[in-house]
Amino acid sequence: MSEQVDCVVVGAGVVGLAVARALALQGRGVMVLEAAEAIGTGTSSRNSEVIHAGIYYPQDSLKARLCVEGRQRLYAYCEERGVEYRRCGKLIVATDEAQRGQLQAIARKAEANGVHDLRWLERDEARSLEPALQCVAALSSPSTGIIDSHGLMLALQGDLEHAGGMVVCHAQVQEAAAVSDGIWLRTEDGTELTASTLVNAAGLQAPALASRIRGLPSQYVPHAYYAKGNYFTLAGRAPFSRLIYPVPEAAGLGVHLTLDMGGQAKFGPDVQWVDGADDLQVDPARAEAFYAEIRRYWPELPDASLEPGYAGIRPKISGPGEAAADFVIQGPRSHGVAGVVQLLGIESPGLTSCLAIGAHVAQLLA
Ligand SMILES: Cc1cc2nc3c(=O)[nH]c(=O)nc-3n(C[C@H](O)[C@H](O)[C@H](O)COP(=O)(O)OP(=O)(O)OC[C@H]3O[C@@H](n4cnc5c(N)ncnc54)[C@H](O)[C@@H]3O)c2cc1C
Repeated sequence: MSEQVDCVVVGAGVVGLAVARALALQGRGVMVLEAAEAIGTGTSSRNSEVIHAGIYYPQDSLKARLCVEGRQRLYAYCEERGVEYRRCGKLIVATDEAQRGQLQAIARKAEANGVHDLRWLERDEARSLEPALQCVAALSSPSTGIIDSHGLMLALQGDLEHAGGMVVCHAQVQEAAAVSDGIWLRTEDGTELTASTLVNAAGLQAPALASRIRGLPSQYVPHAYYAKGNYFTLAGRAPFSRLIYPVPEAAGLGVHLTLDMGGQAKFGPDVQWVDGADDLQVDPARAEAFYAEIRRYWPELPDASLEPGYAGIRPKISGPGEAAADFVIQGPRSHGVAGVVQLLGIESPGLTSCLAIGAHVAQLLA
């Protein structure tokens, strides 16, 4: 006999928690099943903790829309719930004349996405803000910020529980199937549940879980690719008060400087395509490439000042050399399986977008 529940959300990362909260606030009964021993131990604790403005993404993409909406919702939520954040702003820098065109293209893209507060800075103005910076021009984004992502996840969990929902850890979902009265699922310890709604928010494992939902047509199960992003931390204080980004590269935003809420500077993430989601070690040998990239915009970076930090893995659904895929949010209308929502390829800006993703999924199921 399987237990009957209303909604099951698989995965207690920032996206699963935000979706669960949104459903619980609609009055639904929500159970979050998390494989690990605690919430937020996956990609949600291995990122840059940047609240993105919504600058880079193709016009009308889900990434563009949900990032701009999510950023607005997130700042308001942090204020309301006392989650630590800082609207520190960022500079995107052209380090040689050839990159000016790329910077102009970024400014046009931002406008098209509804980000209207970017400001063009010539070299001297940029250097008056950040004297250690080397650049020929820069774009200033005042609505970019940083956030305590763990504080955010605890606040989301608190709202969920206050609305009657719950998080169950050590509960890895092994398989699921569309059945006559909903979605049947089984966890690793043999527990069986039947839910009227199943949200697959399993992050890096979302495509694998999708392949284990019987009844879901195989064309809705994308191939998973993994792009590791390594970080190095700076020994000592950085001479910057804003985040500093180079112009973006193909699979990531370039080795940028970010600050955490304690003022510690870190550089990264780079892009290293890997075969699986398990290897989270940072190879110290990668530091050499970091020094070269960082010195393009900060020539005074001292020798021997970078230390291996941590790594996160981007849950990609497009491979090396391909255009970056948009977020994929599939509801019953796209794949035809009643009650199932899949969140696939929720890479950056997933943290920024989490509250907007929650609202979007709640609307899909309303
Ligand atoms: C290097 C890097 C830098 C980034 N920087 C930023 C940034 O600065 N700003 C930004 O907005 N975004 C950023 N992102 C993106 C952001 O971190 C992610 O979009 C977000 O954390 C995804 O959250 P999630 O809940 O979907 O996934 P996760 O946090 O990975 O959560 C998924 C959860 O599902 C659980 N799970 C998996 N399989 C099962 C199963 N079968 N049963 C039960 N539980 C299961 C896992 O244990 C995990 O806890 C970055 C990502 C990376 C990799």
